[in-house]
Amino acid sequence: MKDLRGEWKDHQLTVALRIRPLNDAEIEEGATTVAHKIDSQMVVLMDPCEDADNVLRANRSREKTYMFDVAFDYTATQEDVYVATTKNLIDGVIAGYNATVFAYGPTGAGKTYTMLGLDSEPGIYIRTLNDLFRAIEDSTEDLNCSVYMSYIEIYNEMIRDLLNPSSGYLELREDAKGEIRIAGITEFSTCNAKEVTVKQKSRVKDINEEVRVGKLFMVDLAGTERASQTQNRGKRMKEGAHINRSLLALANCINALSEKGGKGAQFVNYRDSKLTRLLKDALGGNSRTVMITHISPASSNFEESRNTLVYADKAKNIRNKVKRNLMNVSYHLAQYTSIIAELRSEIDRL
Ligand code: ADP
Ligand code: MG
Repeated sequence: MKDLRGEWKDHQLTVALRIRPLNDAEIEEGATTVAHKIDSQMVVLMDPCEDADNVLRANRSREKTYMFDVAFDYTATQEDVYVATTKNLIDGVIAGYNATVFAYGPTGAGKTYTMLGLDSEPGIYIRTLNDLFRAIEDSTEDLNCSVYMSYIEIYNEMIRDLLNPSSGYLELREDAKGEIRIAGITEFSTCNAKEVTVKQKSRVKDINEEVRVGKLFMVDLAGTERASQTQNRGKRMKEGAHINRSLLALANCINALSEKGGKGAQFVNYRDSKLTRLLKDALGGNSRTVMITHISPASSNFEESRNTLVYADKAKNIRNKVKRNLMNVSYHLAQYTSIIAELRSEIDRL
């Protein structure tokens, strides 16, 4: 069996920042805007301080600028964000590269708005699917293509299949090649979800020819509240702890990967949470990855905006190694054989 994978290429994480508009509640409470976009890549966060009448105002003398691959503010349309972050990943996915787009940031900062959007303002997910289908249709190559999607939700460290909620909680499996799979996940060719995986397989008709397997993974991190905001008793307490575990693990991975700087010395512990196990390829692995960071512009959210910007800034240093997933058909069949063997042994254990 021949693995026809292409050559490894370096890929640096693309980090975008989106500052949403001030919302009514923020305006009502008298919040001011402390996060501003300066140009297409630069943003500034001003440290608010209380003045005599206890109103938070931006303190211009204590401001910090951050630079990202691309920055958006309230003037950006959904199309602007899609075109600058995600659109140009599509050709790569069809060519057999893995790609991940994940929304990062505190609750209420606009992650779901960016990924899913509104009916009148569709987000990245719908736009990507439209373009992906169009690109496959328009392909001049003699390809036999199909697009598979899975919708999952990670909440409380539990993975649920939103297409088949009665299937209960699903487990993560690592195959012989170290790739993470969700055992028993439904793959459909329809759309509508928060957490979405799109697996695009381009099949050539001759059995000796290559099969391109590009996976596009879209992740809207649900429940990314900080522990301090979920410090309630009982069930909420447990939720807070789990949510925090995912986020803490993510922060630890970002820290380790950004320090590693591609030198390979630092140990990166992906195993601490399901979130980080799922994002293993996206962070430091075989994936072209775009992290879209979200913050509120409001003075009242200054602390969490600063915290978010610090991690986004570190994430810029993460380097992935990517290559086209080119396999011939016999290789592909061998993979199914091993999956079947795994399922058999599971049945035997019952
Ligand atoms: P998150 O998913 O990060 O918790 P949401 O995407 O649900 O946050 O956004 C919170 C609220 O702010 C929603 O009502 C959403 O419609 C609104 N919102 C977020 N980003 C924008 C934006 N860029 N423009 C207009 N409204 C937005
Ligand atoms: Mg959300």
